[in-house]
Amino acid sequence: MNVIPFKHLDSVPMAFEAKQENALFLGTIVHKKHNIAQLNGTITGSIFISCDICAEIFENTLNEEVSFYLADGNVHENDRELEIVEIQNSVIDLDELLDSELELIKSDYFCCSNCEGKTLEQEF
Ligand SMILES: [Zn+2]
Repeated sequence: MNVIPFKHLDSVPMAFEAKQENALFLGTIVHKKHNIAQLNGTITGSIFISCDICAEIFENTLNEEVSFYLADGNVHENDRELEIVEIQNSVIDLDELLDSELELIKSDYFCCSNCEGKTLEQEF
């Protein structure tokens, strides 16, 4: 398990690292106030994604800046406008965070290089 207990966080950013297949998630988590922490990171490497047009699986290079807040327990109403992920059992599960970020990326529209050629024929 790749986890950081919320109570270990400090005002000094703590580095973390998570990996899934060829994707690498690197960044820091810093305690902001009461039960809120902020995560800043980048996801690099690659993932395999299926083309939305022909369903062919292809490798997609990742270069994503990720920044959001983590809440240990209930989110105070003053903080509700923030993009917040509520954590379970007062621990930050980095593998799970990477997993959900990758799912989010995969839910975007993707087409393979073959299909890009079909939709942008005037450039060829
Ligand atoms: Zn395709």
